[in-house]
Amino acid sequence: MTILTKSVMTCPVCKTKKEESMPTDFYQANWQCPKCHMSVIPKRGEDCVFCSYGTVPCPKRQQQLQEQKK
Ligand SMILES: [Zn+2]
Repeated sequence: MTILTKSVMTCPVCKTKKEESMPTDFYQANWQCPKCHMSVIPKRGEDCVFCSYGTVPCPKRQQQLQEQKK
């Protein structure tokens, strides 16, 4: 099973992109944009900012998706 731990976040306000490392053992519920300093929080119904705004969903979500495929 391959779990990616890097995701490129895109700020929903100013569209700045930044590569971030993701925690593997919990949902990261906020992220601060390095440019506009907006505190980004997950979209409604989602637990994690990477799942909402990253190029790669968080490790916990990746694990769930891979388990569903079995
Ligand atoms: Zn921003």
